[in-house]
Amino acid sequence: MGARQMSGAAILTINAGSSSVKFSVYEAGEEPVELGRGEVENLNAEAHLRVAPAGGVPGDEPIGRADHAGALRAILDHLAPMLDGRRVAGVGHRIVHGGAHHAAPQLLDDTSIGELHALEPLAPLHQPYNLAAVNAARAAFPDALQVGCFDTGFHRGHAWVNETFGLPRAYYDRGVRRYGFHGLSYEFIAGEIVRRHPELAGARVIVAHLGNGASMCAMHAGRSVNTTMGFSALDGLPMGTRTGQIDPGVLLYLMEFEKMDAAALTRLLYKESGLKGLSGISNDMRTLEASDAPEAAQAIDYFTARIRHEIGALTADLGGLDALVFTGGIGEHSALVRERVCGGMGWLGLSVDAGANAENAPEIGTGRMRVLVIPTDEERVIARAVARFLPGG
Ligand code: ADP
Repeated sequence: MGARQMSGAAILTINAGSSSVKFSVYEAGEEPVELGRGEVENLNAEAHLRVAPAGGVPGDEPIGRADHAGALRAILDHLAPMLDGRRVAGVGHRIVHGGAHHAAPQLLDDTSIGELHALEPLAPLHQPYNLAAVNAARAAFPDALQVGCFDTGFHRGHAWVNETFGLPRAYYDRGVRRYGFHGLSYEFIAGEIVRRHPELAGARVIVAHLGNGASMCAMHAGRSVNTTMGFSALDGLPMGTRTGQIDPGVLLYLMEFEKMDAAALTRLLYKESGLKGLSGISNDMRTLEASDAPEAAQAIDYFTARIRHEIGALTADLGGLDALVFTGGIGEHSALVRERVCGGMGWLGLSVDAGANAENAPEIGTGRMRVLVIPTDEERVIARAVARFLPGG
């Protein structure tokens, strides 16, 4: 009945970063049907709009020097063929930080937007851009519902020991906690695990989301128990350009003896480290895999060693393990990384079939442990959340 009421309605999802705005568009309904997706890249410079209508011909065109509002206008101009007469009834936004109190998706109005602005110090590199896009979307679609979906939300409800640092208690009360990120991806994967493998509904699963940003999540019966990212999106695994876990004593040393200030440390930890810093070649796993340089091999070794280390730690949090899931650009496509991770963990029952692994097959394990490859789709999680707020949803 809901589907009939909503016919003619569409859902737009927006994922705004510092230099790009990704979008996707769906026909509204209990399970939204994708009509297309795309991205504006290189904001505030020579921006480009790439569009991929579902089943249509992808396009790529320069749109000049666009900011977030300009990007949204360009997206809007190109939506018509995909909307095909449908009205945008709801816009869903990926919001990186919901803090301690915003977990479930929620309507964005002046009050909730104000509360989310107050969280900007917790995610200064992302939250302001997310909220700039909300502002632009409210102006562009004044009659549509605006819905915020939080990357931290999936991890709320962790045991206190997995949320705190060993600092004096007052810091926890002031919000210095382990929040965790990539929650929209983990929510999608949790749903896919049950849809594809109902027998794993109550299982202990580790999901490795390995993209430019990378983290892992320990789940029990589809709920997050612990995750490798913490207060910021820097902790845990090394990433394309981010350090991952680091002894905080290193930061004290760099401040005191190399006179680095917050801006210099931010640049070092977020932009110059990880695969890029270790290899001195690239942040891109494809480039590193294709390289003969020993530094490229070492960067991959460090990445996979840290993943194995975190599998051990998260398995301890879960009290055992039933399945390991790979997702994200690297997790979905790099047979080398999956082989390196599982190859060193036969003791845990992890091993992969070389042929299935080379084909990025959905199930690649040969040992006692299930090993799955599941493509993630954060946009769909946002679209589903918006659909629940629409009339009949
Ligand atoms: P983001 O976190 O920006 O969404 P993605 O999930 O798209 O990133 O992942 C990007 C990473 O995936 C890059 O390091 C890229 O090299 C890697 N990747 C994509 N395809 C392959 C492939 N076929 N083999 C190895 N790595 C790949």
